[in-house]
Amino acid sequence: MITPQTTSPSSSSFSFYPKAVTKCTLLVTQNCNLHCQYCYIEKKNTVMSPEVAQKIIEFVFQKNSKDQRLDIGFFGGEPLLELERIEQIVDLIKNHPQYSRSKVTLHLTSNGTIFNQKIAEFLLSNSINFCLSCDGPPQIHDIGRKYKNGQSSAARVEQTLKEALPYFPLMPVNAVYSEQTLQYLPQTVDYLIDLGVKNIYLNPNISANWTQTHAQQLDPIYGALAEKYIQFYLQGKPKFINLIDNKISVILRGGYKPLERCQMGSSELAFGTTGNLYPCERLIGSDNGKTHCLGNILDGTLKPTACKTLPSTATNTECTQCGLSEYCMNWCGCTNYHATGRYDHVSAFMCAHERATINVAYQTIQKLNQNNITLSHHIQGTPLTNVATEPNQQPNHS
Ligand code: SF4
Ligand code: SF4
Repeated sequence: MITPQTTSPSSSSFSFYPKAVTKCTLLVTQNCNLHCQYCYIEKKNTVMSPEVAQKIIEFVFQKNSKDQRLDIGFFGGEPLLELERIEQIVDLIKNHPQYSRSKVTLHLTSNGTIFNQKIAEFLLSNSINFCLSCDGPPQIHDIGRKYKNGQSSAARVEQTLKEALPYFPLMPVNAVYSEQTLQYLPQTVDYLIDLGVKNIYLNPNISANWTQTHAQQLDPIYGALAEKYIQFYLQGKPKFINLIDNKISVILRGGYKPLERCQMGSSELAFGTTGNLYPCERLIGSDNGKTHCLGNILDGTLKPTACKTLPSTATNTECTQCGLSEYCMNWCGCTNYHATGRYDHVSAFMCAHERATINVAYQTIQKLNQNNITLSHHIQGTPLTNVATEPNQQPNHS
């Protein structure tokens, strides 16, 4: 087990300058109507201008070759507070000569408090994938995700889930868990499944005060999730649960491939509302143009500045000697930074989390194999395939 480190970012070498951008996140606004306990964006009334957006779009298409896929995400704050600006930016993207629907994937991540038919139709007509955040049943969700004035947001988010799922049957739902809510993960999965969610992302709050006691709870709690996952398969109604599906894929493929590892600051970039460039949306913070900042699009050239040297792997001694290292996400620089203050040092909790997910995924493969279920679709990296081929997956909004 590794020991948390709390020193400043390392200056070990990392090939920074974007060679070929494949993923770009735009912080449309830093404003938000919620006040989540674990938010890593500082709230401000800033909105990305069309001029900044235009420059960013020119840059990413210029950096993206014709036959490469390009993923563009709208993020916040709450991006749907600025629907008109998003509509303008989508027009800019679609009017770019290099745009093609088969090449460019668009997605938008919302806190689920703003939704209506107009938004649904805009997202659908522009093929924008919709992703929503909900931490679980009302009493769990409201622990971390209340409105700014302290009021519950749970009922509104549940209403959005019910309204949005008919339009977006495979909508990913992201649930963050912290120290207080870890134990309720199985209930969170039950709640989301009961609402009709098929694509569940469970993510630990990476800046929480995780302790050894929490780490010891991971095996039984993730084990309970795995039991549910297995039952879904045995009932012929598999669901996607990232903690399990992603690790099953990695195990069956023999480890993370180079391009599956974090490309932050290299081919994956994030832009703040001001045009400042960051290695990852989770590192924008206050968008002060200093911490983690790699330059500004309005300068004309994005040159690496203070954060130009980002490590690409964890340097914990334990990791270099660990037999699980090929299956472990110890390379996630932003997770490491938020947990330890260094891009290249994994926290003790994240180490335990990785071990537990690898362990339950391995057990899940074994148990499903015993039932003649092979999970071979995970080898191609498409664990969503089963979910996507369930009956009644077409939008029924017409
Ligand atoms: S909804 Fe997102 S941006 Fe808003 S406070 Fe919560 S985590 Fe932060
Ligand atoms: S490689 Fe992963 S599981 Fe192994 S010591 Fe490092 S963080 Fe822990």
